[in-house]
Amino acid sequence: MSDTQGPSLLEDADIVLVVTCAIREGAESKVWNKLQMLKGLKKKRAQNKCNTPMKIGVLGCMAERLKHQLIEKEQAVDLVAGPDSYKDLPRLLAVTDNNQTAVNVLLSLDETYADILPVRLNQDSVTAFVSIMRGCDNMCTYCIVPFTRGRERSRPIDSILEEVRLLSQQGVKEITLLGQNVNSYRDLSNETHYGGLPADEETHLVKGFRTVYKRKKGGLRFADLLDQVSRVDPNMRVRFTSPHPKDFPDEVLQLIQERANICRSLHLPAQSGSSAVLERMRRGYTREAYLDLVSHIRKWLPGVSLSSDFICGFCGETEQEYQETLSLIEQVGYDMAYLFSYSMREVRRKHS
Ligand code: SF4
Repeated sequence: MSDTQGPSLLEDADIVLVVTCAIREGAESKVWNKLQMLKGLKKKRAQNKCNTPMKIGVLGCMAERLKHQLIEKEQAVDLVAGPDSYKDLPRLLAVTDNNQTAVNVLLSLDETYADILPVRLNQDSVTAFVSIMRGCDNMCTYCIVPFTRGRERSRPIDSILEEVRLLSQQGVKEITLLGQNVNSYRDLSNETHYGGLPADEETHLVKGFRTVYKRKKGGLRFADLLDQVSRVDPNMRVRFTSPHPKDFPDEVLQLIQERANICRSLHLPAQSGSSAVLERMRRGYTREAYLDLVSHIRKWLPGVSLSSDFICGFCGETEQEYQETLSLIEQVGYDMAYLFSYSMREVRRKHS
C-alpha cells in the first residue's frame, strides 16, 4: 500500500511503504510528519493483540540519504530500501518477519527496472509515462541527485519499444519519456540494428556546453531512441522530460522538426541567468551559450514552446546576479518556468 491511501485504509494495512524524494527539504519534512502519524497508527494497532503488527517501510532517495536517522530516530521504521533496491523488497519484508530492521540502500550501476512493466492504475487514461534512464553524472554543486539516485544508466531500447507498443495497443494517445537527464540516454546493450554512434565516437554536445566527466563514446543515443519511439504509432504524441540543455544536438532537433507526433514543447533548465552563478553551480555553460542554444532551437523549431527551472538565492548570489536571471527570463520569454528558492542539503559541495 502506498502512502497516498486514506487514513481508514492505512489503519487496516499490514504493510505501509512510504515512497520518498530527498531533492528538497520541504519534501523530507513531509515524510518525517507522515512517519509520526504512522507511528501512532502502528502503536494503536499493536494494542489489540489479535492484530498482525503493522510494518512501515521507507523507500526511495530519502531512504538512501537518511538511513541511520530513519532507523535510530524513527524507531517505528521496519524497512529502508533505496531507489535501486525495489526488487529486493520481498526479501527485506521476510527479514522483518523476525522483528529485525531490513536495510538495502546500495546504488546500482546498471539497475533500470527494464524487466518490470509498470501497472497503470488508471486504465482509462490516454496518457502514460515511460521510464527510459536513471541517475545523473553531472554533479551540479547544488544537487543531491547523483548521491541519492546514482550514476547514469539507460534502459535497453528493445524493452522501451515493447512498452510503447503495448501502450499504443491499450489506446494511449500521449507518452512522456522520463529520465533524470532524459536526453543523455545512451544504451550500451548489444542492440546494433537501430543505428547509434560508433564505439569510438564521442557524444555530440551542444556548442559551448561542457561536461564535468570525460566525454562518453558510442552507444544508441537519445535521437536513435526518439526516432524509434515516434515510429511506433504516428497517432501517439511523444514528450520527454527532464532534459539537460547540453544534450540537444542537431539530430534531436531535426527529428522533432520532421516528426509531427513529437511535441514542440521543450524544457530547458537554465537555473540562473548569471555566468558567474552558473560557474559556481558547475552547470557547464554560460549565459551566452544558453541564449545561443535558445536561438538555435527557435531556428529549427519556430513557435516552439519553452519552459525552464530557476534557483534563486544560490550561495553568494548578488543582487546583480539575480537581476541577470530576471533579464534572461525576459529575454527568452518562456511559456512556463518552475522557480525555486535554494534549499541547502548536507552532502552537496559547499560554497562560501
Ligand atoms: S543535471 Fe540535474 S539531476 Fe544532475 S546534478 Fe545537475 S541538477 Fe542534479
